[in-house]
Amino acid sequence: MSADIIDGKAFAAGLRARIADHVARLKADHGITPGLAVILVGEDPASQVYVRNKGIQTVEVGMTSLEYKLPADVPQADLYALIDRLNNDPQVHGILCQFPVPPHLSETEIVARINPAKDVDGLHVINAGLLVSGGRAMVSCTPLGCLMLLRDRLGDLSGLNAVVIGRSNLVGKPMGQLLLRDNCTVTMAHSRTRDLPALCRGADILVAAVGQPLMVKADWIKPGATVIDVGMNRIAAPEKGAGKTRLAGDVDFDAVRAVAGAITPVPGGVGPMTIACLLANTLTACCRASGLREPEGLTA
Ligand code: NDP
Repeated sequence: MSADIIDGKAFAAGLRARIADHVARLKADHGITPGLAVILVGEDPASQVYVRNKGIQTVEVGMTSLEYKLPADVPQADLYALIDRLNNDPQVHGILCQFPVPPHLSETEIVARINPAKDVDGLHVINAGLLVSGGRAMVSCTPLGCLMLLRDRLGDLSGLNAVVIGRSNLVGKPMGQLLLRDNCTVTMAHSRTRDLPALCRGADILVAAVGQPLMVKADWIKPGATVIDVGMNRIAAPEKGAGKTRLAGDVDFDAVRAVAGAITPVPGGVGPMTIACLLANTLTACCRASGLREPEGLTA
C-alpha cells in the first residue's frame, strides 16, 4: 500500500481563493477591507522571509497589509505603544508580532498586550482559555490548518483515536484541544512519554509536532492511519552536493507512506496552511469586529 499524499499546497490555494471571494464581497457590500498588521523586530533573515511572504499573500487576497519594522534595540515602551495604537485602530483587524524577538523583550508580555480579538496567531491566554472551554477563540494557525486537512480527508472525526506528539502552546496543545472538540479520543505525547512507538500504533490520526527530523518510523504507524507532519527541520542532503541541506519533517516520510493511509509531505503539506489560516483568522476577526456573519469553514 502507498499512502495518499495530502496536498496542503493545493488546499491552501483553494482556501486563499475562498478568502479572496469573501474579502471582495465585504468590500462591495459593506465597504470594509480586512487589515493585518505584522510587527518585525530586528533583522533575523528567516523572519524577514516569513514577514515578506505574509505581506504578499495578504495583499493577494485583497486585504490591507501593514508592516512595521522596528530596530533590534527598540525600547519595550515603543513596541507597546505601537501595539496599543494598532489595538485601537478600527482599520486593523489582526495583529501579530513575528517571533523570535531580541532577548530584552518578552514574547509572553507582547502577546498579552495584543487585544485578544485581534490576536490572529491565537496565542493570547484568553484565546487559549476560550479554545479549552469551547468558546469562540482565535485558533493558532498551524493546528487550525492541520484540522482543516484532517476534516477534508476524513470527514467526521468522531470517535477516532488521535495521538499528538508535542505539547507546545503554539502547536501541540491547541491541536489536541481541536481534535477533542471534534470528538476524537486524544492522547498528548511529549519527551517524557513512555513507549511512544506503541502509543502511536493505536492512532487513527497521528500528528507529529516535535522538531526531530524523521523521528516517526514506519513500525509506529497503524496501517491506514492518517499522518500529519508539522515538523520543519533542516537536514544534511549530501545527494545535492557537499554542505547542502533540505527540509525534512518529523516523520520518516519514505518509509511511513508504505503503511499509512494518507500523509502530509514536507514541504507542501502543513506549511502552506499556516499563512492561509492566518488570513482566515484575519477575515474572521474582521467579521466579528464588524458584527457580520463569519464565513463558513474558516474557523474551528
Ligand atoms: P517546541 O520545541 O515548542 O515543542 C516540541 C515538543 O516536542 C515538546 O512538547 C517536546 O516535549 C516534544 N518532544 C521533543 N522531543 C521529543 C521526543 N524525542 N519524543 C517525544 N516528544 C518530544 O516546537 P513547536 O511545537 O513550536 O514546533 C514543532 C515542530 O513543528 C518544529 O519542527 C517546528 O519547526 C515545526 N513548526 C512548523 C510550522 C509550520 O507552519 N509547518 C509552524 C510551527 C512549528 P517536552 O514538552 O516534554 O519538551
